[in-house]
Amino acid sequence: MVSRMRLQPDALGVGMTSQRARDRLIERLREQGVHDERVLVAVRTLPRHLFVDEALAARAYEDTALPIGHGQTISQPWVVAKMTEAVLETQPKTVLEIGTGSGYQAAMLAALGLQVYTVERIGDLLRGARKRFRKLNLEIRSRHDDGRVGWAEHAPFDAIVVTAGAAALEPALVEQLAPGGTLVAPVAGQLLRLRKTSDGDIEQINLAPVSFVPLLAGIVDG
Ligand code: SAH
Repeated sequence: MVSRMRLQPDALGVGMTSQRARDRLIERLREQGVHDERVLVAVRTLPRHLFVDEALAARAYEDTALPIGHGQTISQPWVVAKMTEAVLETQPKTVLEIGTGSGYQAAMLAALGLQVYTVERIGDLLRGARKRFRKLNLEIRSRHDDGRVGWAEHAPFDAIVVTAGAAALEPALVEQLAPGGTLVAPVAGQLLRLRKTSDGDIEQINLAPVSFVPLLAGIVDG
């Protein structure tokens, strides 16, 4: 649904030499089982090269995680696509992301028309992400905090995406998921998809084995 994309034409990078690299990435994602056309359009449209350091921009459309400083990474496009596809299935309007990082996952969800709330523990990364949101004209609400407690003031959320790995699911996050909603999170090396039924029951499946940077306690000011 291209018409729902909120990106401005000047943010699309149309005419960039990377267009062919983007098309190749889309083909690869299709082959790897991403079927939601809205997600594929968003991956093609969103300028991932603006979410990494200039020195890495040439690699931005490879299907790989890349360093973003502070020992953190922008997630692999396939992982972002899988997580996005999983949450879109239950037609969310609001989504909470834990682990803003570069801002790429949040930007993708916003580009798809969701109201995005995102929490990051490293101040420097959050500042960088906020600059990108402004540049791309995306309205995303963000907070510098330890996201393991979620964002209670705006709960419940129709969807929750956790982009850092933990040994177990944080109960506060499950609590802040609305009935009928989907939560995706890497837990113990598996990408977990959890759904809350309208009665509040929890249904859980493993989507794929994944590797993520760890979900850590506390905040970092620098
Ligand atoms: N979604 C990001 C992925 C970044 S990697 C992107 O698209 O670029 C995961 C991020 O989670 C890192 O930036 C890390 O600092 C952050 N993180 C780890 N533990 C956290 C916590 N408890 N609360 C908030 N953010 C956390």
